[in-house]
Amino acid sequence: MRPAPQGRDAAGDGPRFQGRIAVVTGGASGIGKACAEVLAAQGATVAIADRDLVNAQVVAQALGGRAYAIDVSVPQDLEALAECIEAELGPVALLVNAAGIIQGPSVRPEELPFDTYDRVYGINLRGTHAACVAFGRRMAARRRGAILNLASIAGMRSTPLHAYGPMKAAVIGLTENLAAEWGRCGVRVNCLSPGPVLTPALEDAIDKGLRDRRRMEDSAASGRMVMPREVALAAAFLLSDEASAITGVNLPVDHGWLVANSWASFGGLRSHTS
Ligand code: NAD
Repeated sequence: MRPAPQGRDAAGDGPRFQGRIAVVTGGASGIGKACAEVLAAQGATVAIADRDLVNAQVVAQALGGRAYAIDVSVPQDLEALAECIEAELGPVALLVNAAGIIQGPSVRPEELPFDTYDRVYGINLRGTHAACVAFGRRMAARRRGAILNLASIAGMRSTPLHAYGPMKAAVIGLTENLAAEWGRCGVRVNCLSPGPVLTPALEDAIDKGLRDRRRMEDSAASGRMVMPREVALAAAFLLSDEASAITGVNLPVDHGWLVANSWASFGGLRSHTS
């Protein structure tokens, strides 16, 4: 039996996930941390699963949840993690896959080391797949659950990130496959494609001179960077019963980056200042 949708207040915080256990990989920082905060504020019990156990513990403690050390690039560890969390907290109803890395400097394809390629693959794609399998198969057996993966606009358009972009495109494909695979089992699988989000990972890239904040802002229709909480609120919607008919979708959360970029050859976006 599917649970009845539950109420929430106008600000987006409320008890709609009351009684549900949510696992957030990469929940120690950035988008994952924001997702854990929003899910906890809306009633979920959160398990923060991250390779950074120290910060995972800080986040978990603040939210009344629990922290778990995990390296998502080791598939068998995810199976053990799912077993451990379900034994300690109970059946997991919600999964956010936010563990991920940015590729680093954008280089020509012939200059991209294959160990960088393999690392991005192992964490961003295979790690997402392995977490989906470990938790999703348990949800499917119980015939209830929702999964949210983090893709990227870099998976929807070409960028000079020759490892990161194709892996994110594959996360969109993985999401569609698993949504079809588990649809009859009551498990929904969706993903978000954020534009540039002001998280510690991106701030680090800005500090190192690898990315230009002004250019990123100018590339978006709204002229703004995405904030982690804006991604988290979209994630909470897709995980909630309010999205009960939505599965297999990829939702951009990009302040209009995708719609704005083709304006460059027409002289760019208009400022409308008058
Ligand atoms: P972040 O670095 O702030 O947080 C990522 C978290 O994942 C960290 O806590 C880190 O310890 C953890 N992590 C990294 N590798 C791990 C591993 N092997 N096992 C377990 N945990 C691991 O990054 P973020 O910007 O919040 O990114 C989160 C996700 O969102 C990533 O998948 C990223 O690709 C995606 N994304 C980010 C942006 C952006 O602009 N920041 C845009 C689009 C998509």
